[in-house]
Amino acid sequence: MENLLQKYAAKLVRAGLTEAGGALLGLRGAETLWSREDKACAALETVMAAIDKQAILFAEPAEPYRTIIEYLAETSSGVIEPRDFETRTFLHDLPVLPELDPQAVAAVLKRRRSVIIAGRGVITFGKTGPKAAFVIYSSVCFACFVKFFSDTLYHVRRNSVDHRRKEILNKVMERLDPPPATTGTLMPGPFAAEEQILPAMAEAGRLLVDCRLVDSNFGNISYFADPVLYISPKGGALDELQGRIVPVSLADHSAPTQTASTEFPAHRDIVLATGQRAVLHGHPKFAVILSLDCDKDDCEGRDTCHIRCPHERSIGGVPIVAGEAGGGPFGLCHTVPPAMRDHPGVIVYGHGLFTAGKHDFNEAFARLAAIENACRQEYFRRIKQMGDWHSDLTS
Ligand SMILES: [Zn+2]
Ligand SMILES: [Zn+2]
Repeated sequence: MENLLQKYAAKLVRAGLTEAGGALLGLRGAETLWSREDKACAALETVMAAIDKQAILFAEPAEPYRTIIEYLAETSSGVIEPRDFETRTFLHDLPVLPELDPQAVAAVLKRRRSVIIAGRGVITFGKTGPKAAFVIYSSVCFACFVKFFSDTLYHVRRNSVDHRRKEILNKVMERLDPPPATTGTLMPGPFAAEEQILPAMAEAGRLLVDCRLVDSNFGNISYFADPVLYISPKGGALDELQGRIVPVSLADHSAPTQTASTEFPAHRDIVLATGQRAVLHGHPKFAVILSLDCDKDDCEGRDTCHIRCPHERSIGGVPIVAGEAGGGPFGLCHTVPPAMRDHPGVIVYGHGLFTAGKHDFNEAFARLAAIENACRQEYFRRIKQMGDWHSDLTS
């Protein structure tokens, strides 16, 4: 069990979400196990007992998340409201407390899945183990990143960027990850045998996570070897696919798909609509941020375009479509597959990006990384295009 705590502490570092030693993980048992000693252990034990959960995570975010989260906490009036769809549905809002007071923390965690302690870090929990705490923590970092850049563009458009935000933007830009490389050397396809397909999928999933194009428990991936669609499992980590990939026969309509990714219908219809075999879905940040930005000054959606914009949009030839996660009546499974027919990828509004490739994951990966890089460039182009305040930006 102690290994499990170390495993998630290491994953947080690898994902760039904490510095080494920045995360404190606890697991209740006959006696509570901790990933390391810390002054906060006693207070966190009180919290775990009060909310009756088995695992807790208290971590100081790594840069640039730390600067972003501290800024959002300092300018919020106790609650940060995420702008992206996934977080809104998954976490609602992000409460902020001024200090680590166990009673106050427990009261918040009884109704929300995270709490930000101003100037110190983020606390999340897992009902039975550290995995859920890890997933929620990574979602908080993602939501805050997207919100900061999205709000900044919103204020740039309205000429209302204040000195403090400009200062924070400069600081954050110096600490951004380098853009992902667009050439991977993944296993070359086409693949026919399971012995090739499974390792090829595992390799592509790891690369997607390593390049920070998705947090490990989000995103999904599939490969079609007629008539079987191999797909990542529901709720599974993309960087731990070995032995967990779910084969679903498309010839047998009654095939069990309960363990397959919730985006199975979208993957199935993409391969059927496009004839491509390798499909990737990630949550690259600047694609999500730009999808929330409406560049029509006179849009009738006005200030709510990040929630619902009436205009069809695209970025560099990549369409942005609406659609909820999963296969429901308003699911992205109805909007993404038809849009994939004539485009290198499709951005789902406030959510993420789908790409596909003919033989193996090299092309799908290159497209995903290239679209994210184009979105990142376009973001800073939009920022710099407007107003004269940008002259003191660092890049
Ligand atoms: Zn997604
Ligand atoms: Zn709009």
